Amino acid sequence: MAADGKIKGILFDMGSTLLEFENHSWDELDGRSISAAFEFLKKSGEKLPEFARFEKSFRQVLAEYWISTDQTLEEKPLVHLLELGLLRAGFERNGLNMEELGRVFYQPIRNQISEYDDALEVLERLQGKKLVLAVVSNSIFPREYHLEDLQTFGLAPFFRTALFSSEVGRRKPHPEIFQRALSALSLRPEEVIFIGDRMREDVLGPQKLGIRAVLKYHPKRDYSLGAKTLAQVSCLRELLPVVEKHI
Ligand SMILES: [Mg+2]
Repeated sequence: MAADGKIKGILFDMGSTLLEFENHSWDELDGRSISAAFEFLKKSGEKLPEFARFEKSFRQVLAEYWISTDQTLEEKPLVHLLELGLLRAGFERNGLNMEELGRVFYQPIRNQISEYDDALEVLERLQGKKLVLAVVSNSIFPREYHLEDLQTFGLAPFFRTALFSSEVGRRKPHPEIFQRALSALSLRPEEVIFIGDRMREDVLGPQKLGIRAVLKYHPKRDYSLGAKTLAQVSCLRELLPVVEKHI
């Protein structure tokens, strides 16, 4: 592996790297999503259990999911989790439009996404250096939702491809999602840099394949799992001088 080779591309994590999805805690956001789903079903005239039971069922399903996927690195589609939540709540989902329910569930999260103020400028500069850019992100939500998010903030046109674990079926740090990105870009591991805010997923995962990793510091993360990185940055703009040294 030529660890000091010239780079031709950059792989970006999405959440807390390009866009901030955590302007509220996930606990709070889960609550908002579950409430939105409940209200939607109520308005549709569905016979529902009490809200407390409904909420508890969904929270349990999500909590169990995070424990299991952390081990298996398998990502299930949102619809699967919603179906489990409904089932646990004892709800009959005859003829329910699950795609619509998925969008209702996602909306409270989408409502509070914000962009990092240097994202657009940095992507423009990187594209100007003829680097190919891609997104490699963990998410239970469908790819199309996140393509819309990237579009909303004007970021979508910069990316040659975008890989989401919900579609690949494997979460970072599983090698498959990185390999899929590399083959979509026709690049070798030593020809790209990965940047993200999580040590296990965005630094150790790519490094296992020989991809150099830049850690984007985020105050909510646990970095006790230390690792040697190509660089540590506190904002996207700080990525530019790092890239400059490797092109
Ligand atoms: Mg992230």
